[in-house]
Amino acid sequence: MSNDLFYMPTKIVSGKDCFKKHKDLISRLGKNALIVTGKHSSKKNGSLNDVKFILNSLSINFVIFDDVEENPSLETIDKIATFGKASNVDFIIGIGGGSPLDSSKAAGVLIKNESANLDSLFNDSNLLSLPIVAIPTTAGTGSETTPYAIVTDHNSKTKRGIIQRVFPKISFLDATYFMETPKNVTINTSIDSLSHLIEGYLSSNANLLSDSLAEKGLEYFGQCLESLEKNTIDFNTREKLVLTSTIAGMVISQSGTSLPHGMGYSLTYFKGITHGRANGFLLKSFLQFHEDKQKVNKILSYLNFRTLDAFGDYLKLLLDENLTLSKEEILNFSHSMAINTSKLKNHPFKVTEKDIIDMYTNSL
Ligand code: NAP
Ligand code: ZN
Repeated sequence: MSNDLFYMPTKIVSGKDCFKKHKDLISRLGKNALIVTGKHSSKKNGSLNDVKFILNSLSINFVIFDDVEENPSLETIDKIATFGKASNVDFIIGIGGGSPLDSSKAAGVLIKNESANLDSLFNDSNLLSLPIVAIPTTAGTGSETTPYAIVTDHNSKTKRGIIQRVFPKISFLDATYFMETPKNVTINTSIDSLSHLIEGYLSSNANLLSDSLAEKGLEYFGQCLESLEKNTIDFNTREKLVLTSTIAGMVISQSGTSLPHGMGYSLTYFKGITHGRANGFLLKSFLQFHEDKQKVNKILSYLNFRTLDAFGDYLKLLLDENLTLSKEEILNFSHSMAINTSKLKNHPFKVTEKDIIDMYTNSL
């Protein structure tokens, strides 16, 4: 992480029909677009149709890759890049959750650089990407305001961030596309954004500016607790959840994520637990472990919880299941976290393998 106080070059446009209202921003990006999206949701929530309609009205040619899976693999990134190169695209529009948005960023690097291959995503930080437009339809990862792209590497049996920093050029936040989100997706993704706020606030890289944002995000999240629990989420609450996730993205752009994300990757890879949910299982024990008790108490207070136990009970209620891990799994997962230096350096205090084992154990 650099010593910059704050850098976030993405233009953020928000509100109902914001893509349509600000379509002029798109016409500056080129004449050939690649739309990258998941299999179903963007067709159901209207976002894909809206984008196609606007691109047609702007006489921008487009091709569509609509086969991004959750936790996208390097193989998928490769397919998108081959498809985009063959279509001579100038820019990419990612529509969906973090998976299509991250895939757009990684494929954007490969398409822009003719000689780049999948290894280049992890060893050549100087490569730039095609311009990326992000239309998030989950309120969780904050990929619309982060420079990160997380991909699944089946060879190393884990998830990895690409080395390039790819901030979207423009992100359009329209809560309309989130209105029909099923309860489990809403919960999993919103816990991801909560986790970003907490890890960012407690990171060794946190600073005045990222903390100011994190505090606002935690306050917003605190205002959504009851709606999330009862699954009665109106348009205003959806907008608040989307903004919370976008703010959380801005926070981790500066701070990075730390232990819950690092530990959660094994839960996702080996146990099939979705990303946000995996973090959710670990958050209470992480807060219990963290040495900066003053900041931990501030988190609880912004969220409107009186005690850490009350916070844990609330998460338990939302997650609605217990984490089960064998002793061997705990030891293996702890070891891979203990050698994950990129996440460990974001934690401001010393962490031993035994601490990590304890955190997993306390999360059961
Ligand atoms: P996701 O994997 O993009 O999507 C999860 C599921 O939600 C998919 O089945 C998707 O369906 C569905 N979905 C998406 N939008 C929906 C909507 N509006 N209504 C109903 N269903 C909808 O989930 P995600 O949690 O947003 O992203 C997770 C990925 O982001 C992980 O790979 C994680 O590591 C990464 N991540 C990235 C960052 C970053 O900074 N870049 C930060 C944290 C996490 P379809 O497949 O049909 O679209
Ligand atoms: Zn995350």
